[in-house]
Amino acid sequence: MGEVAYIALGSNLGDREATLAGARAALRALPQTRVIAETAVEETAPFGPPGQPPYLNQMIALETSLSPHALLDALQRIEHDAGRVRRERWGPRTLDLDIVRYGDRTLADERLTVPHPGLATREFWQREAAALGRALDG
Ligand code: ATP
Ligand code: CA
Ligand code: CA
Repeated sequence: MGEVAYIALGSNLGDREATLAGARAALRALPQTRVIAETAVEETAPFGPPGQPPYLNQMIALETSLSPHALLDALQRIEHDAGRVRRERWGPRTLDLDIVRYGDRTLADERLTVPHPGLATREFWQREAAALGRALDG
């Protein structure tokens, strides 16, 4: 069996609901991967450059046999297919997919830091991760 990874989904450009729905479908279609829990979608205030529209966020638990880097490749492909154009860091984007946790692993290289450093400061991620933990334990 694979390991449990928590993926944060975010969208603050275009049809955000449709973008998240498409991302969920793409995650369900990944090889060697099963979606095992989802939080509700919630709206959060943007951080980073001022004047951005609010985000819709969701967190999804996957059970996957993809390696962390293969999973990151897959997530970046999904972002690209959603029409994401990378402009400035933390700037608006159609779709952002971050690996928040991957099992109990800690990783840090030039492409991937796990757990995601944002987990320490993003209160809504902590809330969503706790909700996934409860869903998976219960
Ligand atoms: P933040 O990561 O602070 O939320 P961001 O999502 O806006 O900012 P991006 O421009 O989407 O940042 O990603 C920049 C790079 O972060 C990616 O190219 C990827 O290689 C790297 N990265 C490092 N750790 C992770 C992770 N856990 N999940 C996703 N990407 C990561
Ligand atoms: Ca992010
Ligand atoms: Ca990202």
